[in-house]
Order: sequence, then structure tokens, then C-alpha cells
Amino acid sequence: MEKESKRNLGLMWLLKKLAPDFKTIADFRKDNCDSIKKVCKEFIFLCKHLDLFGGELVAIDGSKFRAVNSKKRNFNEAKLRKRLKEIGEKIDRYFEELEENDNNEAFISSTDAEELKSKIEQLKERREKYQKFLRELKDSGETQISLTDPDSRAMMNNHRIEVCYNVQITVDSKHKLILDHEVTNEVKDNNQLSKMSKRAKEILEVDELEVTADKGYHNAVEIKECVDDNIIPYIPEPDPNVSKRINIPEPPFYKREFRYDKEMDVYICPAGFELSFRNLAEIHGKLMRLYKTNRCAVCLFKSKCTRNLRGRIIYRWENEEILEEMKKRIEGNKDKIKERQCLVEHPFGTIKRSFNQGHMLMKGIKKVGAEMSLTILAYNVTRVINIIGLKELIAFLRCHSIPLMNKSSVIC
Ligand code: SF4
Repeated sequence: MEKESKRNLGLMWLLKKLAPDFKTIADFRKDNCDSIKKVCKEFIFLCKHLDLFGGELVAIDGSKFRAVNSKKRNFNEAKLRKRLKEIGEKIDRYFEELEENDNNEAFISSTDAEELKSKIEQLKERREKYQKFLRELKDSGETQISLTDPDSRAMMNNHRIEVCYNVQITVDSKHKLILDHEVTNEVKDNNQLSKMSKRAKEILEVDELEVTADKGYHNAVEIKECVDDNIIPYIPEPDPNVSKRINIPEPPFYKREFRYDKEMDVYICPAGFELSFRNLAEIHGKLMRLYKTNRCAVCLFKSKCTRNLRGRIIYRWENEEILEEMKKRIEGNKDKIKERQCLVEHPFGTIKRSFNQGHMLMKGIKKVGAEMSLTILAYNVTRVINIIGLKELIAFLRCHSIPLMNKSSVIC
């Protein structure tokens, strides 16, 4: 921008020949976070005014953007304990060396002993620092501590652990415009579905809205919240996590292969036996119904179905029919799942590749939020120019200089 302000005639005219240096531009961005977010939101309402949102189907997705924080300056409890153990071992080793030096005074120079003492002091200082971080983690209830950008978190990004922010976006299917976004430091996406869907419905001011997202958003409680708010979700079921579960059955015996008979309130297993209701249990805050059969002990497939000595147990959530209905809906509308990919990969691809923004430049979730708002604004402006044309957009802006935003609506 600094270069363009001295070269680009359009920008020179717009800035009235001001030529700010990079520091002034960076400070402007840092000092005007709220205004930048507001302008981004204002443009979204302008798009709505231009009838550029379909308001029928939206896709939600998250992508990780690297934060200004190296992996070395991010700690969790396990990492801190490992470092403390290593420091303890090193200190013990240095003390042993010192003792040996004392016993062989004739052969060791005093400078070696001084060096060892100074190394021990440095290690002790580092140990105190790590112990302080451990106490801070315990007091705050957080699972990680980041030193350069305290709001950033270590999370999986392209099969690697990196210190990032998780940026959530909602894209409308009509013109692939970004309807809403939020910068979070949540490591996973599975708590974002209802919040982002409800915000989209509120911005679009519609009574009903279809939402599609990937397997990472499959969270039964979140799906129920959407359904209760007249939002129709299309979220594919994730595959069982084979690496983490010890009682995992072989694929022909996954829970989805057990047919539920609603009238009889029983499950029919792949071997054709009925699993009847036994009792209720609360698991991870969800009320579950437990189904079992006495035939597992003599079943030929038991080793493939379960490693539980008491036989296979099927857990049915009290609102499982919501998930079953969604499954049926997806079977009949597979195109909606495919559409999701086209909808959300276009904006993220453009932002990361064309705009070259795979990482953030600012620190702190509020400032990173403003930085992302600026990027989303640039994406939406470019897209609207491509859709309706520059002249039409300028003409529309001239006629609508008053705020378009509904003040009661949510902020991006
Ligand atoms: S182990 Fe039990 S639930 Fe599994 S197939 Fe055999 S009878 Fe059915």
C-alpha cells in the first residue's frame, strides 16, 4: 500500500496525495479495529440491499491462519512438565560434574567450574519460569499458554501442529459472498455450528435456512440447537476414530449398520439379533439409552463386533431421531454436501492464495479480528465488482450514503 500510494493514480486521488509509510498504515489498522469491523459489516448489509444473497443455503467452514507466535513460545502442561524434567536432569548432571571437578582439582581449571555454575543458575531461572507458567495454566483453567500472542493456540493445520487462529466463515450460495465471519482460538470446529448458523439467519432475516458444513461440525447438541431454531443442517457423520478407541468394531459392525425399529424400540444387529432397551446413562452431558442382547456371548461375530466382555452395547441419544432425519435428508440431497466444498473453498482459496494471507500480522484476537475483517471486505468488494460491475457499485454507493445496517443485528 505504501508503494501504491506513490504510484497508483487512483489511490493518489483517493488519498488526496497523502503517501503514508508502512508504519502509519500499520498503526491506522491497529488503532481503528472497531471501525474496520463496522465497515466490513456495513458492506455485507449493502450486498443484502443489492439482493446478492439468496438466503436459502449457506455453507460454514473454518480455516487456520498462522499467528505471530512460534511453536517454541507456546506451551501446554505436558510440554512444560517434559521441559522441567529435562532441566532437572541437566542440573543433576552438572552437579555431578562439579563434584567430580572437586575430587580432581589438580586436573580441572577454575574457569570450567565457573562455567558449570553459571549454566546451573540459567537452568534454575528457566525452571522457575516454567513453574510460573504451570501455575498460570492451573489458575486460568486454560490448556495452553502462548507468549508472543497470548490469544493464539496450537492446533492442527495441514497435518502439522502450528500456533494459529481458527477463522470461521459463512458463505451464501447465491454468489459465494461471505455473509459472516469470526476469528476464534478454538482448536476444533465442532462447537461453532449453531452460533454461526443463528447469526447467518439473523443477518439474512429469514424464517428458515439450510446450512451445510463438513464432518468436523457434527455435534449432536449443536445440530439440535439448529433444528430448534428452524435451521436445516446437512452435516455428514464422521467415521469412528479408529486410532483412539479400543473397543472399536470392524466396519461391518459399526453402529450405523445396526437398524433401529422405532415401534419395537429395539436395534437389529448385523447378525440379526434384537438389542433391547436396558437402562439410561448420562454421558458427556447427554442422556443416552443403552441397548443390549444376551446373544453376544454365543455370537460367531463377537470378536469383530466388540471387545467388551459383557457384549455389545448400543448407545442411543434421547434426541437421536434428529440425527437420523438429517442422515435421510443428506441421502436425498448429496449435492448439498458437494456444494459445500465449492462454496467455502473459493473464499478461503482466494484469501490464502490470491491475497497471500495464510498468516496474521497483528497480535491479540481483537486486532486479528479487524485484520480478517479487512481481508473479508476486500474479498467481498472484489466479488461484488465482478458480479454487478464497478460503475453500478459506485452508482449504488452514491445513492445510498446512509447506513444500511440494521443496528439490532449481530456484529461480524
Ligand atoms: S456380538 Fe452381539 S451385537 Fe454383535 S453381531 Fe453378535 S449378537 Fe449382534
